[in-house]
Amino acid sequence: KQVSREWREENTLVRLPNGTVIGGREIVLMAGPCAVESEEQILTAARQVRAAGATVLRGGAFKPRTSPYSFQGLGEDGLKLLAKAREETGMAIITEAIDPEGVDLVAEYADVIQIGARNMQNYPLLRRAGQTGKPVLLKRGMSATITEFLLAAEYILAEGNDDVILCERGVRSFDTHTRNLLDLTAIPVVKGLSHLPIVADPSHGTGLRSKVVPMGRAAVAAGADGLIVEVHPDPTRALSDGAQSLYPEQFTELVEQTRVIAQAI
Ligand code: PEP
Ligand code: MN
Repeated sequence: KQVSREWREENTLVRLPNGTVIGGREIVLMAGPCAVESEEQILTAARQVRAAGATVLRGGAFKPRTSPYSFQGLGEDGLKLLAKAREETGMAIITEAIDPEGVDLVAEYADVIQIGARNMQNYPLLRRAGQTGKPVLLKRGMSATITEFLLAAEYILAEGNDDVILCERGVRSFDTHTRNLLDLTAIPVVKGLSHLPIVADPSHGTGLRSKVVPMGRAAVAAGADGLIVEVHPDPTRALSDGAQSLYPEQFTELVEQTRVIAQAI
């Protein structure tokens, strides 16, 4: 398999147009709101997370919500606002594509195409994303084994696209104290099996703002190549995932702590 360490021994480095390299020595910080909500919201969030040290701005324009009645995202208008934030801040943009038909539109704007947990095994979507030639961040499905996760990534590599970033975002568990169970073991396991970089999402991985900073630190200590974190200028007013979104000051604190941990390992 092309995802395997047997196929390629050295770590794959994914390079973004703004100079960010994922899989190298630096811990890459991707941050921003769950969803793009307005020009003011995304530009404010971008300035805040950039000032804290993030080099990649996240924000969904197409949201795969659990309920069809929840906010579904701004669509192409959201993509345009992300492009504006990139222009102003120099950050790279990561945003989700939720269906095969929508991939080309997302690829016109995004520097990294995100495939969400709910779509990890949407094989036509994976193939289309692979065909764009843009870097793809693939999130682990909420009940996917590590083997299924790596085989899903294989669909993208099989299209001739090696620029794949894996993302551990928590799996379902029997415990109700957190939204998901962030499987930190997956990080060293994947590192052993694959040359692809892996980042952690402690926001969806815990679902609770107060747990995001400690689990972000832990993921870096476990060997993650980076973090993707939800940060909102005013989490109490977020249209999605407010309960797990950090206040900008908390993100700054997390960045400082990850630097200390990265130095120590
Ligand atoms: C997201 O990143 O906002 C998202 C929907 O994540 P996941 O696919 O991990 O649930
Ligand atoms: Mn979210």
